[in-house]
Amino acid sequence: MQEMRTPGMQHVVLTEKSLADYAPIVGDDVIAEIEQLARPLQGARVLNISSTAYGGGVAEMLHTLVPLMRSAGLNAEWRIITGPDEFFGVTKSMHNALQGMDLDLTPAMRAAYLHTNVDNAVYMEDEFDFVIVHDPQPAPLRMLRAADPGKWIWRCHIDLTAANQVYWNFLRPYIERYDAAIFTMPQYVKQDLAIGKVAIIPPAIDPLSPKNAPMDEARAADIVQLYGVDPTRPIIVQVSRFDPWKDPLGVIDVYRNIKTRYPDTQLVMVGSMATDDPEGMDYYQRTKEHAEGDPDIHLLSNLDGIGNVEVNAFQRAATVVLQKSLREGFGLTISEGLWKGKPVIGGNVGGIPIQIENGKTGYLVESIEECTARALELMRNPKKAQAMGARGREVVRRRFLSTAHIRSELQLFTELMKSSARTSRTTARTRVAQATLASMNGRKPRGQHIATA
Ligand code: UDP
Repeated sequence: MQEMRTPGMQHVVLTEKSLADYAPIVGDDVIAEIEQLARPLQGARVLNISSTAYGGGVAEMLHTLVPLMRSAGLNAEWRIITGPDEFFGVTKSMHNALQGMDLDLTPAMRAAYLHTNVDNAVYMEDEFDFVIVHDPQPAPLRMLRAADPGKWIWRCHIDLTAANQVYWNFLRPYIERYDAAIFTMPQYVKQDLAIGKVAIIPPAIDPLSPKNAPMDEARAADIVQLYGVDPTRPIIVQVSRFDPWKDPLGVIDVYRNIKTRYPDTQLVMVGSMATDDPEGMDYYQRTKEHAEGDPDIHLLSNLDGIGNVEVNAFQRAATVVLQKSLREGFGLTISEGLWKGKPVIGGNVGGIPIQIENGKTGYLVESIEECTARALELMRNPKKAQAMGARGREVVRRRFLSTAHIRSELQLFTELMKSSARTSRTTARTRVAQATLASMNGRKPRGQHIATA
C-alpha cells in the first residue's frame, strides 16, 4: 500500500524556551537589548522555512531560535517543505555544486526542483510579516508567492565562494526576489547578487539545549561507556554528517597516524542521517570500509540511539575535538566543542577561522599531517589544551550563542521595517498581483501586520 503524504509544508512542533533563562550566561544587558529591539515587533508573524526538522546545523539552530523569538513576543513558527526523494537528490547536488563541485544540472533536475517548490507554494497558507527561507532547497518560494506581503529574507548557510557557476546562475534569479539575504561571512556574498539588503549573521549554538547544557565528567564517562568507548583512554571525536566535505576518510587517516604514537587511542565519529541528505548512507558505508573493521573506530549515528545528550557527552569526553572539513559554511560543531572547554582542530576553510583563533583556542589545519601534529601536541600538553579550551568558551559566549543571533535578526527586521516606511516599496505591479491573487482565492489578506509607518 502506498503511503499517503499530506501535500505542502509541515509544521514543526517546538518546545518552549524563555529568554530570561539565558541572562545568567550572557548577562542582563544582552537580554534587555533583545527586549528593547523586540518591543516594536510584538505580535509580528514570522515564518521560517527549511527542508528538514532533524539533522544538520539549520535544524539545530531553528529548534532554539524560533522558541526564543516567541519568548521575545513575536509570533514565530517553523515549517518544512516536503518532497519526493528525487527532489532531495537534486538539492543535495545543488548543495555540493554551490560549495564548488563540478556537477551537471540537467533539465530533469531543474524540473524536479521546481515541481516540489510549486507544490509547496500552492499549499502555503497564511501570510506573514517576515518569512525567512533557509538555503537553496525552498529558495524559489518567494518568486512563487510573489503576491504575498511581508518581508522575505533568504538565509544562506553555505560557503558560496567557489560556487559552481551553472548552479549559481540558476539559483540567483530566485534569490534576487527577496528583500534581504543573510550570509554567515562577507566573503560568501556573491558580487553579482542584486538584492536590497545584505546582513552578515554568523550561526549560533544554544548553551541550554541538551547538546550544550552543563554535564559533569562522570555522567559523560558513563554515557560514552554505554557505546563501548573507554573514557580512561584517549578519544578523538568528530561530530558530523557522513559527507565528503566533512572528510571522514581523512579523519580516519589522522587517527591512524596518532595511533602510531598513542596506541590506545580511540576514534569516535558521530554522524546523524539527516532526512534531506540521501548521500549520508552511502558515505557512511565508504567510511566504514575505510575503517577496515578497526575495533577502536566507532562510527555512531542516530540509528544507534545517539541524540543530543550523547553528542554532548562525547564532546566532553573527547581528548581532542576535530572538525577536519574541506568546506564548511560555519560548522556549529566547532562552537559546540569550544563551549565545552575543548580546543578544536578544524580545517582552515569557510566559517571555521571565525571561530578558531589559531594557536589560541584551537588550530587551523590544511592537511592530514598538520592535523596529526596538532592533535599530538594537544595530547602531549593537557594543561595547554585546557587553557586554550577555556579561552574558546569565552569567545563562544560573546559571539556565537543564540541570543547574539536573535539580536541580529531583530536588528534586521527593524531595518527592513524602517526602509519600508521611508520608501513605499510596493510597486504598482505587485499591487495588481496581490489583488489578482486575493480575488482568485476569494479571500482578503490575513494575519496581523506590523505597522511600518
Ligand atoms: N549533529 C548531531 N548528531 C550527529 C551529527 C551532527 O546532533 O550525529 C549536529 C551537530 O552537533 C551540529 C549540527 O548537527 O549541531 C551540524 O551542524 P554543522 O553546522 O556543524 O554542519 P552541517 O551539518 O550543517 O553541515
